[in-house]
Amino acid sequence: MPTTALAILARPSLEAPPHAGPAPFALVDPLSPQLSALDLAATRGDGVFETISVGGGRPQALEPHLRRFARSASALDLPAPDPEVWRAAILAVIAAIDPAREASVKTVLSRGVEGDGRPTGWAFASVSPDHAHARTHGVRAVTLDRGYRHDVERTSPWLLAGAKTLSYAVHRAALREAARRGADDAVFVSSDGYVLEGPTSSVVYRRGERLLTPGTGLGILEGTTQGSLFAFAAERGMETGYELITPAELAASDAVWLVSSVRHAAPVRELDGSALRTDPVLTAAMNDYLARRLD
Ligand code: PLP
Repeated sequence: MPTTALAILARPSLEAPPHAGPAPFALVDPLSPQLSALDLAATRGDGVFETISVGGGRPQALEPHLRRFARSASALDLPAPDPEVWRAAILAVIAAIDPAREASVKTVLSRGVEGDGRPTGWAFASVSPDHAHARTHGVRAVTLDRGYRHDVERTSPWLLAGAKTLSYAVHRAALREAARRGADDAVFVSSDGYVLEGPTSSVVYRRGERLLTPGTGLGILEGTTQGSLFAFAAERGMETGYELITPAELAASDAVWLVSSVRHAAPVRELDGSALRTDPVLTAAMNDYLARRLD
């Protein structure tokens, strides 16, 4: 069974003219070239994306991902993605790959070729690497200054903080900096000293019987995994909430996780070289819940 599958959307948005062809999308060879060298995705990173995890052959948190996809597109003044065609393309690429393995689907909507007026859209499914080690043994993280204040989303919306844009070179650079410092991952901190998010994850922490995250509107992504974990916590009778914290307060928490769609909940066992408390029982329950969730 294939480990990857690719669908190109003929009409990713109802607000823009379609590309040629009768079908709303077509499954194509993922290894053959599909994208124009003039596409603004390639030349400017001018587009948005989502990465949706797949468990048991089904997309997880599909609707929250599609809503965030639309919010990101709106932040970039892109034509709104048509949820119907995206849903169908996502299900089609999932059906084309090995259903027994954990997988993910990346959806991309770009502004298309400059001046053409037709956005480009594709959905790419691939079998995921094994994240068991990070989920069980945790990760070492370092804090990195993001260089923006925590209220950047309000003061400077043109910086697109909080939108999931294709311009992830900074996020990749942060991960390389973390590796240079001997860590596996990073936690961004605002220039005024508040914990934000990881380069590809949300920060979740436990204080007693409360499961918390720094919040929304801080120029960070509203995490679908964090949303699922708040539902999980509520089912267990835990309180959930949003609280701005400093790195020192984070380090003093009862447990800290970096959570994201494909890796799920990775406990942070070390922050800036100091050991953190972990909660292996809650971590296992979280990852069990995330493996089974559909929304
Ligand atoms: N924050 C950033 C910057 C991300 O890139 C991601 C996911 O890639 C997340 C948070 C977590 O989002 P989700 O749980 O929806 O995967």
